[in-house]
Amino acid sequence: MIKTLRFWILTLISFTIIGILTSSLFSSYLVTKNSLIENSLEQNQVYSKKLAQMSEELFASMQLNLEGRKADIIKLLDQPEELTVVLDQLIVTSRNFNSVSVIDKNGLAIATSPNVGIAGNIIESEGVREALDKKENIITKPYMASTGRLLILVSTPLFNEQNEYLGMLNGTIYLEEDNFIRNILAEHYSKDGSYVYVVDHSGTLIYHPDEERIGEVVKSNEVVEKLIKGNSGSSLTENTKGDLYLAGYSFIEASNWGVVSQTPYQSSLEPLIGIILKIFLYALPFVALFLVVAFIISNKLAFPLQKLAMYTMNKGFNKKELRIPTWYFEAKQLTETVEEYRRHQEETVADFKMQSLTDPLTGLKNRRFAEYLYSNLIEEKQYFSMLMVDIDFFKKVNDEFGHNAGDEVLQFLASRMNLVASDNDFCIRLGGEEFAIVFPNTHLDEAYRLAEILRKDIETTLPPTRKLITISAGVGEYVDFNEPITSFIERIDRALYKAKSNGRNNTMKSN
Ligand code: GH3
Ligand code: MG
Ligand code: MG
Repeated sequence: MIKTLRFWILTLISFTIIGILTSSLFSSYLVTKNSLIENSLEQNQVYSKKLAQMSEELFASMQLNLEGRKADIIKLLDQPEELTVVLDQLIVTSRNFNSVSVIDKNGLAIATSPNVGIAGNIIESEGVREALDKKENIITKPYMASTGRLLILVSTPLFNEQNEYLGMLNGTIYLEEDNFIRNILAEHYSKDGSYVYVVDHSGTLIYHPDEERIGEVVKSNEVVEKLIKGNSGSSLTENTKGDLYLAGYSFIEASNWGVVSQTPYQSSLEPLIGIILKIFLYALPFVALFLVVAFIISNKLAFPLQKLAMYTMNKGFNKKELRIPTWYFEAKQLTETVEEYRRHQEETVADFKMQSLTDPLTGLKNRRFAEYLYSNLIEEKQYFSMLMVDIDFFKKVNDEFGHNAGDEVLQFLASRMNLVASDNDFCIRLGGEEFAIVFPNTHLDEAYRLAEILRKDIETTLPPTRKLITISAGVGEYVDFNEPITSFIERIDRALYKAKSNGRNNTMKSN
């Protein structure tokens, strides 16, 4: 079935609203997603920077701790027992070292605290050798000590007043055990899968929540690559398992280490669906409101055209006047045109009807009208009388004066009939030169009286031919509503015939 205008307007509006809603939700989705990613990157970067700063400060304070005891230690280098006492104090006050030791310039461990069983031994580990070589403040890279521990060394050189190198004072941090890095970083491990790890300048993991990975070299990671080059920043990255992370990373200058704080890409985006859903829910009342307004407007828009369509479909078209409230140009124009057309149609039909019931020559009603009239009167049970008139020897008028003059005589008779008939009566030209007058509510005698008035009037009034004419007439009354109209007409016809045979110019009553 063909759809209505209202349907199409509503469809259009609904599509528009849904389209706008979808596109705004989609753009909100993109904007929110980007800002969630940016937020997560920034947070991680800020956090890694904070951790790096804290580490820098800690390393600085560790170095200061060691340097602060150097003078005492140099004095006690040849008294290991007293030295151990100083170291015991040092480890308590510094708190950040797992152990402290004094090693002489040949690598001999003079004293340690706590006692890790290396005092009196030559220490050949990688870190110690590095510190002996450099003879300066250093933080070594992670290495496996003779005790089987993975550790780093924070070391400061010992020089006497003559600036002779005597050895070094070390603090150690056991990477795989409870240590200060872990104390700072472990807090960050959170439910959303975020975590922190620390690498040294060679890409070795110094801290990782998965302890088994400490000591592993992860150079292939792009974030680690950047850290090794001394850069800080943030980026989307893939971990060794191939999962995507949003990482912030900061370089620690004191140790040449890097701190990475990272959050799984997916969990950073977790609030996204909730946010979009919220935006959608906030938009919903507005969408509903727009739809209601759209519904009302579409109704108002479609109403005049809908009415107009119904009107033209309606069988009553042409009868009822068109009344449609229009508030926009097209509907107004259409309504006016349809109404104009309707009025024109009505007038034309009325005109045709009139013409079809009127005799054009005399302006009297015709035989078709007479048929309507009889049935109307009979239907309304209204008695009536009828007079039938025929001009005497009319052929002669035509013959003598011509057909046109004959027509004028017919018009003359018609005008005389109109004078006799009242407003309630009907003058009819039945055909040729035969006429009739129908008198509703009139009895036979009255009709006869009027017929005689007409006959005498014609007899004495000069027609346009200026030669008097006469008429013969028959009258009858219709009272028995069971009588067929044809038989009634025949009765009057017979009376008229009788009038003719009686010598014309007289009126006969039908019985
Ligand atoms: P009567 O009725 O007295 O017997 O004689 P009549 O000469 O009138 O005879 P009839 O009624 O048979 O003739 C009717 C004539 O009327 C015939 C026709 O020429 C003429 N006539 C019929 N219609 C018209 C018309 O419209 N105009 C004119 N001018 N003549 C008509
Ligand atoms: Mg005749
Ligand atoms: Mg005649």
